[in-house]
Amino acid sequence: MNSMSRLMVFVVLPLAGVGLSSAAHGQVSQPPAASSTLFQDVRIFDGKGSPLSAPSNVLVKGNIIERISATPITAEPGAVVIAGNGRTLMPGLIDAHWHAALIRPNPAQAIGGDAGYNNIAAGVEATDTLMRGFTTVRDVGGPVFGLKTAIDSGLIAGPRIYPAGAVITVTSGHGDFRQLSDLPRTIGGMLSRMEQLGGSMVADSPDEVRVRVREQLMQGASQIKLTAGGGVSSPFSPIDVSTFTEPELRAAVEAAENWGTYVAAHAFTPAAIQRAIAAGVKCIEHGFLMDEATAKLIAERGVWLSAQPLPEDLRLGFPAGSVQRAKADEVWPGIARTYELAKKYKIKTAWGTDVLFSQALAQQQGAILASLVRWYSPAEALVMATGTNAELLALSGKRNPYAGKLGVVEQGALADLLLVDGNPLENINLIAEPAKNFKVIMKDGKIYKNTLGG
Ligand SMILES: [Zn+2]
Repeated sequence: MNSMSRLMVFVVLPLAGVGLSSAAHGQVSQPPAASSTLFQDVRIFDGKGSPLSAPSNVLVKGNIIERISATPITAEPGAVVIAGNGRTLMPGLIDAHWHAALIRPNPAQAIGGDAGYNNIAAGVEATDTLMRGFTTVRDVGGPVFGLKTAIDSGLIAGPRIYPAGAVITVTSGHGDFRQLSDLPRTIGGMLSRMEQLGGSMVADSPDEVRVRVREQLMQGASQIKLTAGGGVSSPFSPIDVSTFTEPELRAAVEAAENWGTYVAAHAFTPAAIQRAIAAGVKCIEHGFLMDEATAKLIAERGVWLSAQPLPEDLRLGFPAGSVQRAKADEVWPGIARTYELAKKYKIKTAWGTDVLFSQALAQQQGAILASLVRWYSPAEALVMATGTNAELLALSGKRNPYAGKLGVVEQGALADLLLVDGNPLENINLIAEPAKNFKVIMKDGKIYKNTLGG
């Protein structure tokens, strides 16, 4: 079968709903080795903040953007030629705070459910994620090493995954989903169910932290995630508490840096954020209760802020009267203030969603990105979700699982591309309806969706 007929097979597939048929995966994930694709007459959003380009032609060869030219490029025999007709070509979207294994199950299923079922559900969700135009996710907690391998080997369609593996937490910390009946814990004793699954690991001393960090690195973690303070969704971690001691945090940072990568820490309060920074943490997740002094410190130290414009629906999803709802009510007002501080102090800010336990919210992934226009221009929001997020991914150094440049449309970069029907810089809501508006989705030079033919 030549590449043309492969595409024709794919074009007629339903692209919404539960994802692609298994037959399609064979077609889509194993295109010819020397495949090339020529996008004609596209206007380029480069992921770096330049205005849309003049009408251009873009040649992808293998998995690389080989050439960008205002003058016509001759297609090689067998190349897929896509007539852009003035549509916008942009980098694939990147979600910097994602939990690929924790979207479809509810909390009880995630911990107590069947692991085989949960993995298959995560695979189906990964396909949906890619079909929303998200070609890369930074996974900050959950058992996703197997999912990543399945995607990278072409077994199933999904985004590139930068995995943290298990979240590392203290007893009672955010990520400790055990029940009181699971206590007491003995250091060196039996693992809880949650730990056996690789969702989160409890560590209560610098030595234990080192072990758990190194175990994640051994499994292929590209960065380490730990929780430096309380969190909304876990049952026994009040928002105001700081969890790890500075020596414990430093143990994680040393172990990660010895592997050439970094630690990202979940933290809301000034105390938790400042302690994490003192220990050498390179990225603060959320940060929603920060004050001016902490914002200044983050900026001065060149630390990243990985923030999320968390939707109201997520807050309302916690049952009224529950501990989690009370904590959400405490955190949510800080979201707007944090974005204002991030802008004021020019903090390096990544964008993510942090969708948990809700397929319906995951379908809003693009809409959540578009909601950044409360604080940013559409261009700024789209740069954040492409070029800027890719800079954060590059912090993984030698543990970066995907050699090459992501998040930009430029010669020599990895070919993760979206062809958008319209101009998202003028109407960012186009990205909220990917099934309708993304005409082509390409990851690593492979076409996963093409409704234009070619
Ligand atoms: Zn999270």
